[in-house]
Formats: sequence, structure tokens, C-alpha cells
Amino acid sequence: MSENNTTQDVAAMQKENCIFCKIIDGEIPSKKIFEDELCLATLDINPASEGHIILLPKEHYHIMPLVPDETISHLFNIAQKLSLTLLRGLSMQGTTTFIANGAAAGQKAPHFMIHIIPRLENDGLFKIPKNHISKEDLLISQKKIKGRINLLFGLKEKSENQKKIDENNDVQKTKIKETDSEKTNDELNELNNLINDKEEKNELNKEKKPNIENENKEEKKNANLDDIANLFG
Ligand SMILES: [Zn+2]
Repeated sequence: MSENNTTQDVAAMQKENCIFCKIIDGEIPSKKIFEDELCLATLDINPASEGHIILLPKEHYHIMPLVPDETISHLFNIAQKLSLTLLRGLSMQGTTTFIANGAAAGQKAPHFMIHIIPRLENDGLFKIPKNHISKEDLLISQKKIKGRINLLFGLKEKSENQKKIDENNDVQKTKIKETDSEKTNDELNELNNLINDKEEKNELNKEKKPNIENENKEEKKNANLDDIANLFG
């Protein structure tokens, strides 16, 4: 049996035992909100708040990277409309759109889904922690992620020389913000060495860093989604 067949067999077995596939097929009843050829939205039976919707692709996909581009685009389009519906229909003040992608992220069932959760001010749901991260570590993360995303989209990688020039510029900008004192090349070299050291250490130690990607979003949480909803007429 080829490796490909084994993978397909595992997927078929998962689908066989998947309660969300049974909901989609109508074998298990649910409180349907919306359905089309690609997706189904239903109320969550264990809601985080009133009106909590789960949006499922009709095909069985375990995790987000397995969902085809066309389907993921469609799902987010529908998620946007469902979010607007919650704001209007339940007079909510906001929505959190949430995906648990993989077991480490808290994914319980092997069927990809998008949660659309109605929010009220001070409802106490989803406090995103703020973790401290140094500016040097931010630069390292930026470099690693940018490299990967460029590869994924087939964008041309910069030459090594250009990378060093950009890196120095980034470090210089960071340090100018920190202090008004005169900068020297020695300082920049020292910082670059520190970045290289940390990068080597990170390569050896693959442990995940604290998740800080949403740190800045916390600051913007007071944006009035009702105003945004009004744009849709
Ligand atoms: Zn399924």
C-alpha cells in the first residue's frame, strides 16, 4: 500500500467517525443557520455566548492547511456575513472569529471549522495575554516569517548584501527610538551578533515562543463594530 493510499485511508476513517460530517449529512440534527454547496453554519451546542455559530466546510478537512484556497475564501466570505448578522440580529457589540488549528491550539474534533462568537463589552471572554518580547526577538521572528511567506508566494529572495543593509537599517531605526545618543558601528555589529547568536540558539531549541501576534490588536478592541456594520447599509 502506498503512502498516499494510507493517508487517504486515515482521512476516510476520520470522516467515517466525524460527528460534524454526520451533522452535515443530516444524520445528527442541528440548529442550522445557513447552508450552500460548500459550507454549513449551525449554532454551537456548547456556546461561548448566545448566538455562537460554527461554520463548517461540507468536505471533511482535518486542519486549515488542508482546506483548498477556493473553499477557505468562500468560508471567510460567509463568516463575514454571519458576523454582520450577529451584530444586527442579536444587537451584539462585536464578534470574535476564532479557529483552533491543531491540537496545540485546542482543536478537539478533526473537522476544520470557524467559530463566530458574539461579544458584548466586558463579557470576560477571550482575554489575549500580553507577553514581553525584546525588539531583537521581534526582528528575528519577522525575518524568519518573511522568508517563509516569500518562499510560499514565490517572491524573489533578497541578496545577502541587501538583507544585511536592511537588517542594519531596521536595527538602527529601533535603536534611534530607544535613545538619542550617538550610534556607532560597533553597537550595530554587537546587536547583529546578538541576533545571530539568538537565531542559532533558536535553531537548536525549537520550543515555541509565547504567542504575541495579537498583542497590538488588544489595543484596538474598542473599535466600534456597529459603525463598521453601518458601512454595509
Ligand atoms: Zn468531518
